[in-house]
Amino acid sequence: MDLLTNSDIAELLATASESAKQPLQKALRRASRKAFLWPEEAAHIVQEGRSLEELAGIGPSLNRIIRRWIQDPPDIPKLPEIRTGFLTSVRAREILEAKPSWLRDVKGDLQMHTLWSDGTASIQEMAQAAVERGYEYIAITDHAKGLKIAGGIDESQLDTQAEEIAQVNAAMASTAKPFRVLRSIELNLNPSGAGDMEPAALSRLNLVLGCFHSALRKKEDQTERYLAALRNPDLQILGHPRGRIYNFRLGLSADWRRVFDLAADLDKAVEIDSYPDRQDLSGDLIKLAVKAGCRISIGTDSHGPSQLRFMEFGLASALSAGVKLDRILNFMTADELLGWVASVRQRSTRRPAA
Ligand SMILES: [Zn+2]
Repeated sequence: MDLLTNSDIAELLATASESAKQPLQKALRRASRKAFLWPEEAAHIVQEGRSLEELAGIGPSLNRIIRRWIQDPPDIPKLPEIRTGFLTSVRAREILEAKPSWLRDVKGDLQMHTLWSDGTASIQEMAQAAVERGYEYIAITDHAKGLKIAGGIDESQLDTQAEEIAQVNAAMASTAKPFRVLRSIELNLNPSGAGDMEPAALSRLNLVLGCFHSALRKKEDQTERYLAALRNPDLQILGHPRGRIYNFRLGLSADWRRVFDLAADLDKAVEIDSYPDRQDLSGDLIKLAVKAGCRISIGTDSHGPSQLRFMEFGLASALSAGVKLDRILNFMTADELLGWVASVRQRSTRRPAA
């Protein structure tokens, strides 16, 4: 008989939470999310006679419940869409075993937050953690001013942040391997694809990521907002495109073929946000993006140094969806990346022939 995987256990926990009373309901729901981060299969832990309480989100009562499931596996219900298409950490690592060079050769991470908005660490701390992972660069993408709830920053704060980034870069200039902190931002796009910052401030950044954070529960087709966002001359990367969140929000729907075709035409990138609860783009959409030939950017959406490891989710999604390495921004050198941004910017400002 097949052992239950952490993905099966996550689903059983989520399903059980739907009929449980508080406080168990909350614990089940939380553990269902945490299961995606467990470093090894819970079934192996049980086989080895260890306690599941060493796993995040598991106390004595969940230990008993999950142990029973592992010993006498119930049927796994069909996954509802809101929980479909999420890799566990264990599964992501298995996928990456087929191409160990990917984890070794990835040169940078293109989405993360710091104390400047809603992150928990300084730019210096994020940079240090990235150096320890062997990266050559990171992009700092704190939230822009329109997203007040996440401590979004305005144009003058962005300028002040530039000074701090310059200091960090100067301090790191003498390290053995070259490392650069790139200036970026998570531009907040309104549903018509417009950003919330002055274009002049954005043009001084090394690259610009733009994301939707509002009207994310619309049921109708949203193709037009994606096309408008991609045509926005200020951004080069469309971040967490669907806006989905595990067991919380389905995200938007669109004619993705048209969206990715336009991204390919403009040579812009669509993101795989590797935050475990997001994994957005999801595998099915990454495959469509591959077909259209558009570029892929991988960002962990880290809010602290320990989350940089979420890179494994994005790399595994890309690998299993058949993305070629030369389509992924994160395998470019910093100079190649900046060269690409320059060419996209040039293309975006060129007016169409009359
Ligand atoms: Zn965001």
